[in-house]
This record gives sequence, C-alpha cells and structure tokens, in this order.
Amino acid sequence: MGSYAIEPITAGESVAAFGGWVADEAELRSLPAERISRTMQIDEHLYLVSGETADPGDYVNHSCTPNCGLAGNMLVVAMRDIAIGEELTFDYAMSDGGDYDEFDCLCGLAECRGVVTGRDWRLPELQSRYAGWFSPYLARKIANESKGLQ
Ligand SMILES: [Zn+2]
Repeated sequence: MGSYAIEPITAGESVAAFGGWVADEAELRSLPAERISRTMQIDEHLYLVSGETADPGDYVNHSCTPNCGLAGNMLVVAMRDIAIGEELTFDYAMSDGGDYDEFDCLCGLAECRGVVTGRDWRLPELQSRYAGWFSPYLARKIANESKGLQ
C-alpha cells in the first residue's frame, strides 16, 4: 500500500492532512497493530490516531530519501516537485521520537538506514537534511539540544 501522485505536484504543495484523536502512550499500546501503523506521533508521549477506516493519507509511506516533509503536526507537504506516478513519502524520522513504530526499511536505496527507529531524528545528517521539515515537538527538541538543554 502506498500513496502515489495522480497529477504533477509542485514543491510546497500540501499532499495530505491527518486528523483523528489524540492518544497517550497507554491508549496507543492498547490499539491493534493496524491502527498503530496509522498513527502520527505529535509530542513526547502523545499520538494522533487516524480515523476508523484508512484513507489515502494513511498510506504515505516512509522513505530514507523522501519527497515530502511535515508542516506542523498534521500536514504532509511536497519538499520538491513530484511527477505523476511517484510515490509520496516522508521520513518517519521527521515525526517519530518514540519506539512505537520501529521497523526494518526495505527501500534498498544507497542512503537507506536499514532500521528506522524513534532515535533517528538525533542523527546530525538528518537534522541538517530535514531542517524545517520536522514535527514541531522534534524541532523543539533539536533546538534545545543544540542549546545544551534537554
Ligand atoms: Zn530505507
């Protein structure tokens, strides 16, 4: 399953908006795996859980070389122009700071990290590559770490 461009998309265009309800860690862990896979971390221990049934935005997959990034907690935005037929992806390092959705990445690209974890946002290379595209709570953590705060 994935989301694919059915018309040309211009850099800066929003391609998906997430909605749903906010769950804490305990609520999240009580959900079926399928629901957890359609969840977006929005703060240290808070998660935006998507609706009862999946919609195309739920299938914006991870890529280690994504064409989209995050604008706020809810919007997926094209980081570059995207052609018809390209899969829409963002790097889950942009949103995940916990271990609720760690997995082996099979993207097979030279830049592939192999394993996607909730600690990937700490990688200096990703922090510079995705500057401005992280979820707000991760952007705040990155800024605090660079100031020596926790
Ligand atoms: Zn990968």
